[in-house]
Amino acid sequence: MAPACGVCVEALYNRKGLPSAYEPVTPVDHAEGWNKQRKKTATGWYDNLCRAADPDQVSNHMRRQQPMRSVTAYATSDRKAPFHKTTIQRRDLGPGDVLIKIAFAGICHTDIHTARGEWGDVIFPLVPGHEMAGVVEEIGAGVTKYAVGDRVGVGCMVDSCRECDNCLAGEQQYCLNGPVYTYNCIGKDGRPTEGGYSTHIVVDQDFVLAIPAGIDLDVAAPLLCAGVTLYSPLKHWGAGPGTSLAIVGLGGLGHMGVKIAHALGAEVSVLSQSLSKQADGRRLGADNYYATADPATFKQLKHRFDLIVSTVSATLPMHSYLSMLRLDGTLVNVGAPSDPLSVPASSLMDKRLRLAGSSIGGIRETQEMLNFCAEHGLGAEIEVISADQIDVAYDRVVDSDVRYRFVINTATF
Ligand code: NAP
Ligand code: ZN
Ligand code: ZN
Repeated sequence: MAPACGVCVEALYNRKGLPSAYEPVTPVDHAEGWNKQRKKTATGWYDNLCRAADPDQVSNHMRRQQPMRSVTAYATSDRKAPFHKTTIQRRDLGPGDVLIKIAFAGICHTDIHTARGEWGDVIFPLVPGHEMAGVVEEIGAGVTKYAVGDRVGVGCMVDSCRECDNCLAGEQQYCLNGPVYTYNCIGKDGRPTEGGYSTHIVVDQDFVLAIPAGIDLDVAAPLLCAGVTLYSPLKHWGAGPGTSLAIVGLGGLGHMGVKIAHALGAEVSVLSQSLSKQADGRRLGADNYYATADPATFKQLKHRFDLIVSTVSATLPMHSYLSMLRLDGTLVNVGAPSDPLSVPASSLMDKRLRLAGSSIGGIRETQEMLNFCAEHGLGAEIEVISADQIDVAYDRVVDSDVRYRFVINTATF
């Protein structure tokens, strides 16, 4: 075990170029405040940084190592506080970094779960946003993948360990050391990550996606989370011609699920709480549309689907949805309610069913999804809002009153 002390972060820098997540340090009691605030939300990155380090010493060190640039952002300072305009620091460009001028940032329900503290501790002030699209403004000296002026996007991750089996397989979202999420996480520089509700972001080129010509930046932004979160399980579980599948919840994720599943050639049904969005659902590509508020729906659809993907942000009676699967069917849950999912054992046993989960997608797969969407002319259905409408938009998403993704125009910052 390497000794933990106020300068170990610097030592790690010297050894490997970046603080290593794998260099064990002796955990010791640390100062209240800076470190303590982040303890519970921390991923492996933080856990392996020096816990003894004096907060000021670390941040001064970071400032020395990495000159900052000030950019405008919208942040919330508490789980009940409204968003406010603020200034945040982005690191100066390292050799592999890309500075992106963000044009649009989608509002994902995950932003809301996080900002409202529904999933646990939050690093406040919080700048959410992991669906951003914009243009490359500057590149580091070693950047080969992007040039100034390129149209690019950033999704839910801005880094990962790059060394574990899952990273090496291109599944960075399942990084065994924990991916560095775009916000509410600790970056490799030891600083909290801050997301896309901002005019600019600095991201390593390996976590930047190219937005193909033919998709406008505003409708591309939600693809970076909502698009890939549905594309990945639909591909993994083989959605295509001959598959009968259902998408539960016609919100941000769900509407992309309908579009992508339809483009893949599957027979698509929507299971929504009511029939109020039926016309939209059919326009987006649904062959069938059902209201789950009507108990007759569950009887009518017994043993009907090969695959069900639930995008619902609240806890569902899983056994009722499992009853709609055929023998060997799979229910993939991508929604992330804060309460646990509860499943009677018999509801899985009776038809050899699988209950699965899926998290976003890897970088390669995200690019594949963007290319797929461009080929098929798919983008998100959006309502563009200004920065002062974020709080109202949050309430509307929670009320299922979104058609189908709010996208913040950063020109209004
Ligand atoms: P969203 O736009 O709010 O869509 C969720 C939809 O679920 C709503 O539009 C609504 O559809 C349905 N719904 C909401 N409350 C419901 C309830 N009480 N009972 C039944 N249905 C309900 O949210 P989103 O941005 O698509 O995100 C959905 C969930 O996925 C969130 O929990 C989010 O955190 C999670 N997520 C997971 C991943 C991942 O990688 N797995 C990635 C992104 C987001 P209807 O009106 O049609 O019923
Ligand atoms: Zn998201
Ligand atoms: Zn990894």
